[in-house]
Amino acid sequence: MKSHSVETEILSLQIPTPFNVGPINIFLIKGEMLTLVDTGPKTIEARELLDAFLKKNGFSWSDIGQVFLTHQHVDHTGLLAEVHERSGATVIAHPDAVPYIEMDAGFVEYHDAFFLRIYQENGVPDEMLGHVIKFRQMMEKFGEPAPVHVRVEGGVPLQGVEEWKTVFTPGHTQNHLALYREQDGWMLSGDFLIKEISSNAFLEPPVYREMPRARPLLVYREAMGRVAKMNVTRMFSAHGEEITEHRELIEHRLRRHGERADKIHQLLEEGPKTAFELSVSLFPKIFSKELPLTFSETLGHLDLLEAAQRVEVVELGGVKKYRRVE
Ligand SMILES: [Zn+2]
Ligand SMILES: [Zn+2]
Repeated sequence: MKSHSVETEILSLQIPTPFNVGPINIFLIKGEMLTLVDTGPKTIEARELLDAFLKKNGFSWSDIGQVFLTHQHVDHTGLLAEVHERSGATVIAHPDAVPYIEMDAGFVEYHDAFFLRIYQENGVPDEMLGHVIKFRQMMEKFGEPAPVHVRVEGGVPLQGVEEWKTVFTPGHTQNHLALYREQDGWMLSGDFLIKEISSNAFLEPPVYREMPRARPLLVYREAMGRVAKMNVTRMFSAHGEEITEHRELIEHRLRRHGERADKIHQLLEEGPKTAFELSVSLFPKIFSKELPLTFSETLGHLDLLEAAQRVEVVELGGVKKYRRVE
């Protein structure tokens, strides 16, 4: 088991995941209330590691008073149902993460229908639409429905560990929350920033169905701008190493977004293209395996170009194509 103490009041545990992002770091805040931040995926290994980690630190499952979730992805929430069952802990999440965590049947259906429609509109070939089901099967394999008891937005102190305040950090998901402790500038940042790789801004259906879809990369960049202004001394990410120079990393990520947008703009020199065609050009090796990721990346950068009025959308032959604005 790989675990280390960040300082006396926060413990971290690294748990392998079946996903490309690699292992996840989950945290235990030893406040007035023992608070677990994220749970790891629903795997036997995760359960055993968490069990051993609790024991090694002198705790039992029932000592966990609450679980705080940074966002709904199954590497962060998969083991939640079991943790809740064994501990009776209160579960805390952003309100917009709730339909994903509770896996409300109506929402899952709506989620799949949203992706089918948006993929079709943007030129994804029929034979690749099975990705929608594959994505859902992955969620069901490594996660299971669990209850959320307390809904929190950004800027709220966490009960039981009041020095930690939530920070709304959307973009990677539309409901992402980090925890920040002002007195020493520590942040438990979930998937908001990852040192070694750029975190993806995932396309998601709007939780409030009458709303237009969020433009994930624009939302993400706005959140990055806000966090860059914060005095963060140590950022503990859910994946990879600790981040100490968060401003530099944010600047670097923002620059890379600009470069990728420029590349897409160049690709459109040859004429209008669909988001899918562009994702094939940008990610020739992985587009067929990683459709949700490559499509989100491509559409996100197209949103950026559209907001800058460098491209416009035209309907051609029943699909949306992006055209350069000269
Ligand atoms: Zn995530
Ligand atoms: Zn993650």
